[in-house]
Amino acid sequence: MSQSTESVVPLPYRRVVLKLSGNSFSRTGEGGISMSEIMTICNQIKRIVQLNIQLAVVCGGGNILRGKQFSSASVASNPSTAHYMGMLATVINGLALQDALESVGVPTRLQSAIRMEGVAEPFIRRRCLRHLEKGRVVILAAGTGSPFVTTDTAAALRSREIDADVLLKATRVDGVYTDDPEKNPHAVRYSEISYQDVLRQNLQVMDAQALHHCMEHNIPIVVFNYQKEGNIERVLNGEKIGTRILPVAQMPKST
Ligand code: UDP
Repeated sequence: MSQSTESVVPLPYRRVVLKLSGNSFSRTGEGGISMSEIMTICNQIKRIVQLNIQLAVVCGGGNILRGKQFSSASVASNPSTAHYMGMLATVINGLALQDALESVGVPTRLQSAIRMEGVAEPFIRRRCLRHLEKGRVVILAAGTGSPFVTTDTAAALRSREIDADVLLKATRVDGVYTDDPEKNPHAVRYSEISYQDVLRQNLQVMDAQALHHCMEHNIPIVVFNYQKEGNIERVLNGEKIGTRILPVAQMPKST
């Protein structure tokens, strides 16, 4: 893998998967796509790429459709079909993100887990790695390509496949709390927590399947607020932003 001789301070992460939920593509409290919301993320992504970090972005689709909610709300919908619709929603977001990134000069490739020539390349691991090595941001859409799971699981699986050093889960809250910080003013943020404790306490961070994948392969997860300008870079610079979800053996002794 090519490493720039210009980077003076070695960064803790070399290859990163960023999971962007569907709601990062829309304004707070709204659905659909807001290009101005996407642009705020793009500007942060542009700076990350300049740090020579290899970045793959997994897009969610909840701003358009989540299979589970759609199939339970509609008697006419077959659950599998609803999940495929959800996966296609992630491709719409992927296209919007690609357009926005390229408008600020960031080279990208869109790869889809469901084949759709003319719109996106198929996800091919080795091709994905090659793009990353060439400094292209790879946008991963259509989740895993299979229904009944979420894009969190897709992000965990892709992190494993491409040997990512960390999975960044971008959210609108500052990390993982003991309780919902919007409902409980006494909720406290964890700076570090083990996968096991997240599962034991049933903290709503990621679906359990995604957590299990990360736990089995020791992929650290950082949950952080992407809306605070510069936070993605701070995380990648090793600053203690948000919550790090870690193997028990890597938990700091004091906590
Ligand atoms: N989905 C799926 N398989 C996958 C990934 C996603 O069936 O591998 C469907 C699922 O219905 C999901 C929807 O796509 O609800 C949108 O993804 P997700 O809910 O993870 O989006 P987010 O919550 O991140 O916006």
